[in-house]
Amino acid sequence: MASSSLLFSSPVSLHLQTSKRTPFSFSPTSPNLRGFFPSSYQSLRISRSPRPSAAISAVQVEQPVADAPSSPRPPPVLPFRVGHGFDLHRLEPGLPLIIGGIDIPHDRGCEAHSDGDVLLHCVVDAILGALGLPDIGQIFPDTDPKWSGAASSVFLREAVRLMHEAGYELGNLDATLILQRPKLSPHKEAIRANLCDLLGADPSVVNLKAKTHEKVDSLGENRSIAAHTVVLLMRKKS
Ligand SMILES: [Zn+2]
Repeated sequence: MASSSLLFSSPVSLHLQTSKRTPFSFSPTSPNLRGFFPSSYQSLRISRSPRPSAAISAVQVEQPVADAPSSPRPPPVLPFRVGHGFDLHRLEPGLPLIIGGIDIPHDRGCEAHSDGDVLLHCVVDAILGALGLPDIGQIFPDTDPKWSGAASSVFLREAVRLMHEAGYELGNLDATLILQRPKLSPHKEAIRANLCDLLGADPSVVNLKAKTHEKVDSLGENRSIAAHTVVLLMRKKS
């Protein structure tokens, strides 16, 4: 259309007018940048200064022209998607410590609305993040009595269902637990096996690491537990 051909054929560097006259500029003549601008940008009109010495050419943002396409582009279908999850819980005496669905003997456990499974929570968030979905707290709000004391495997099974529904499968997962006590090595394989089962994944693509926090801060003082997870999702072959 006329306005877009004017926009993209102009050799000038454009400066968008804002209320603060922010000197945000871009060169629309670069073919690498063209795809980044939504169709609404095609309603930008250039008004050149009559004096070539003027450093700034003004761009007025107008309502989209009548023939501009109104529907946005469909989102890209990515062959891979990466997601990161993080979670932390306070440890309080007298509560069970559930990690990866396994009950770990300890003198304290996680304070939480659900069973406080820090590993499953962050795995859920990593998967949801990779899919570009809201986080676990938004999908399973702790204000909903339905999730009070719920086993976190429920959340993970739902995240896996959403992953398959979106057309993806797990490529691989790498998780790190951070806790000062208890030692996790005697339980690591049981946790990993249960995680594989919940994910429906081969053990070769699910990795679990554990480390202390060098006795510093709440994590190192046995007052909290945290976990990080990174997942790679792969588009399923149709
Ligand atoms: Zn949590």
